[in-house]
Amino acid sequence: MDAKNQKITTVFPTLAKQPIKGVSAKGITITDENGKEYLDFSSGVAVVGIGHGVQEVTDAVVEQMNKASFLYRGLFSNDATLELSQRVIDMAPDNMERIFFTCSGSEATESAIKIARQYQIERGKPSKWKVISKWQEYHGNTMMGLSVSGRGNWRTLYDPYLTRTPHIPQCNCYHCPMGLSYPSCGMRCAYELERVIKAEDPSTISAFFFETIGGATGGCVIPPKEYYPIVREICDKYDILMIDDEVITGFGRTGKNFAIDHYGVKPDLIVTAKGMSSGYLPLGGVIISKEIIDTIQNGSGKIVHSFTYSGHAVSCAAGNAVLKYLHEHDLVNRAAVEGAVLKEKLEKELSDLPMVGNIRGIGMFCGVTFVKDKETRESYPMEKNVGPKIAEYCCSHGVMLLNAQPGSEDVLRGDALLVEPPLITTEEEMDRAIAVLKEAILHVYEEVK
Ligand code: PMP
Repeated sequence: MDAKNQKITTVFPTLAKQPIKGVSAKGITITDENGKEYLDFSSGVAVVGIGHGVQEVTDAVVEQMNKASFLYRGLFSNDATLELSQRVIDMAPDNMERIFFTCSGSEATESAIKIARQYQIERGKPSKWKVISKWQEYHGNTMMGLSVSGRGNWRTLYDPYLTRTPHIPQCNCYHCPMGLSYPSCGMRCAYELERVIKAEDPSTISAFFFETIGGATGGCVIPPKEYYPIVREICDKYDILMIDDEVITGFGRTGKNFAIDHYGVKPDLIVTAKGMSSGYLPLGGVIISKEIIDTIQNGSGKIVHSFTYSGHAVSCAAGNAVLKYLHEHDLVNRAAVEGAVLKEKLEKELSDLPMVGNIRGIGMFCGVTFVKDKETRESYPMEKNVGPKIAEYCCSHGVMLLNAQPGSEDVLRGDALLVEPPLITTEEEMDRAIAVLKEAILHVYEEVK
């Protein structure tokens, strides 16, 4: 049949299988075309912090569209973008001064790397250009985003195009890539940063780029409290910027405004997206320190970087309404309190089940790692598809959960599931979702054992 006469049943890039057709969403529940309901325990993909269907956000978007939909940032400023800049800076660590808006996390990653580079040049350090990052972390799907990402199986296909950037091991205490145990390891993985900086020549390094809490690749991998203070010390010692990727963890997900706040550390740039607009419209951004802004302001006076849709007034109007809602409903504190309950419930209900190796959590951001042997922590072979099978069972029983992209341990192995519902999730909803997850684990265990 000629292509024009074929009815399109899947949205590219999905080709193989018709996904569920979602028709409406309210609170933490999504309804499909047959009226079946799903508890959104993945917040889309760690996006929908304030929940679905908040009328105030829709109203703010419509109001802005009625005033002006598109005002090109090169020619006009606008109130929505200015207001959101202020709201974001008010939430960010106190060394932060401005935000450059984008439409996605990947664009924010690209922007942060370019702003860091421009800063190094304008302060008279043009030899500083390299960006060090960690394996098993993810920063975006554009070529530079993928270059600094350490998500092996997403890189392989495009490897010839990727810029050679150094990577260090991730800080993953359950499956330590260095084969060590915390705390006797003495945080060797943090000091790997220093070793690589010295090997590469500190005068060539611009920045260290990291996910505060490893998200979609490892499945909520939380470094111990001393990790980022050590990293900050090393970066200061070698005159290197810290670029903190909070695309998943920003805007309250972990029970603080930004995950780095748990560590008492101030980064130089923060990459953000998802929670800022809760997915109501595409929005991302790079939060920039006063030191960087001042240097560029007193140097060339402008950032040599732009996107057509940077600071889109309607996306920013959505962002304002979302952050207003977040504050008015005290959702950052709620994520801390109810997130602790979520972790406790997961531990109580799942710890003793077969395959459940490790449960982690910080705010409304939890991860469960599945292993073949709970003693040795040996993972299942990839072909067993343990993580995807558990997620699939949950989905068919009305609970949306995302498995960390295989493998959670390294490119060859590891199964983990992310439990990251909207910040408004109730304890009753947690009980319903965890009951299904429990069933799923037992079901898949029988299948793969
Ligand atoms: N950084 C992190 C930590 C992410 O999780 C993601 C997306 N999952 C990105 C960057 C890229 O964001 P986007 O998909 O909006 O480009």
